[in-house]
Amino acid sequence: MPLPAQGRSKDDILEELRAKQAGDVRWQDGKTFGMVYDGGPSLHEVQEAVAVEFLHENALNTLAFPSLGAMQSEVVRITADLLHGGPDAAGFMTSGGTESILMAVKSARERGRAERGIEQPNLVVAESAHAAFHKGAHYFGLEMRKVPVRADWRADVDTMAAAIDDNTVLVVGSAPQYPQGVIDPIGELAAVAAEAGANFHVDACMGGFVLPFMEELGYELPPWDFRVEGVTSISADLHKLGYAPKGASVIVHRDKELRRYQTFVFDGWLGGFYASPGMQGTRPGLPIALAWATLQHLGREGYLRLTKMAIDAARRMVEGIRAIEGLTVLGEPEAHLVAIAADPARPEPLDVFAVGDALLARGWFHDRQTPPDSLHATVSAGNAPVIEDYLRDLAACVAEVAGARADDRATNYATLE
Ligand SMILES: *Cc1c(COP(=O)(O)O)cnc(C)c1O
Repeated sequence: MPLPAQGRSKDDILEELRAKQAGDVRWQDGKTFGMVYDGGPSLHEVQEAVAVEFLHENALNTLAFPSLGAMQSEVVRITADLLHGGPDAAGFMTSGGTESILMAVKSARERGRAERGIEQPNLVVAESAHAAFHKGAHYFGLEMRKVPVRADWRADVDTMAAAIDDNTVLVVGSAPQYPQGVIDPIGELAAVAAEAGANFHVDACMGGFVLPFMEELGYELPPWDFRVEGVTSISADLHKLGYAPKGASVIVHRDKELRRYQTFVFDGWLGGFYASPGMQGTRPGLPIALAWATLQHLGREGYLRLTKMAIDAARRMVEGIRAIEGLTVLGEPEAHLVAIAADPARPEPLDVFAVGDALLARGWFHDRQTPPDSLHATVSAGNAPVIEDYLRDLAACVAEVAGARADDRATNYATLE
């Protein structure tokens, strides 16, 4: 498509955009298990109104936009409190979980160099740790040490410990990890990391705005936040189960000293003093205002309500899947992530990707992942009203697929173009 010679009208543009959108997943009806997390109509109303107010603002320099600076520190403070960060905890907002994780990797590298003289840093992660840690190692020149998970999909403390050496600057645990949704043994991992003098990052991109409310609702959870000694930083995504629109995550460090290793400060440019918390230069004010407004509109009561909806739905989903002959759920997910796989005990196991294709034909969208072949669900409040419909369609798809195999074996967490 060439650049139009003459500008087009608003109506013309909207008409074409709506036509383009026709092919997108229909998250509004709850049939998409991931990517968009729907906090309900009253939240949408607030977010849409705020978007109009803050569409154009720039958080590059909060001296120009003190409103953004204030909202940003309030969002970080609220998040740090939820993670039991204590008065010394300090963090930054970022554009998403990936940027938070990149900053955790970069901070660990800087600290290792400054405090331990490490020039060839490595980080130790379980193979369940998010791909963003690999991206970070690649971008920032760290050696990646990836170790297998246990049979229950949790990080294996002994194997992780064995991979740590004098050059280890970062050890990672997830609460929960994305692929199977289980929480790693954070306490034991953090102790091992602390003994080595390394940073320990808890990836709570998914769990950060779920587990604190689950605890308050009375669910039994293993300790995973700043109450665990040795945890140096935690990432929590507002744009997942924080129910804020995209572009909002928080990284919290245990104290300001540790946070200092994240920042980039440069005073040798003709453009003047340059201080920056993350990867971005110019930063949209929009996600900051939207995240702030989302926290304010939902409040503790709103998050408790949405968390209960999501967890009830996820547990009903697990139970319903396990009741369908030929299917199973991987591991025992504590929170809102579910990995659906073929039951290997069946003489001729199903092809779960073929089941995924049949579901897609009925409008249900799952990410596909491997190994092992499985359909991934991030269950949020928006899915709760349609869980029984889903389970009915899932049983029908399993019957329909029988022994068929999907031709396309590709998995698709993220795409290039
Ligand atoms: C989503 C996710 C990330 C990455 O976050 P983005 O916002 O997609 O960049 C990292 N870790 C976990 C566990 C996640 O679920």
